[in-house]
Amino acid sequence: MGLKSSLKDKKAVQLHWLQRAASMAKQSPHPAVKVGAVLVDAAGNEISRAANRFAHGVDDKPSERYVDGSRSLWINCAEQMVIARAVRKQSCLKGARLYVTLSPCAVCAGLIAECGIAEVIVPKNSCRANGRLKAKWKKSITIGLAKMQEAGVKLTLVDLEE
Ligand SMILES: [Zn+2]
Repeated sequence: MGLKSSLKDKKAVQLHWLQRAASMAKQSPHPAVKVGAVLVDAAGNEISRAANRFAHGVDDKPSERYVDGSRSLWINCAEQMVIARAVRKQSCLKGARLYVTLSPCAVCAGLIAECGIAEVIVPKNSCRANGRLKAKWKKSITIGLAKMQEAGVKLTLVDLEE
């Protein structure tokens, strides 16, 4: 297999998992920022998938929990949920890849590094694609990127248009 075709295969794999993450994002109850994530083990098999959502057992009905300023406290990030699912299944995250539709926040980035996840794959321009992200989220994502870089978590940006 030539270098060009293997690069093409790699891109096809990335697009496959990012599409799965994007379809998870649609299940998010968050009114503004819907994020999906898929964890894939070192052998290339899916471990878990999740959207940003309320934790199991937490009441998702009160409307005040969806109000700007509260919802980010009530609704957990997709990365946390996908890692929690992997823990429940007792899966090994060492060397795993995390496909996520939005670049991780500062809290998730620390969790990702600590879990031994080797690579995070996000669509190029994921922040722009998620509309009007508030300044505090932009700051959180910027710190998240720095954390992953310092901790040696590889970040791969995939151009969905190409
Ligand atoms: Zn997060």
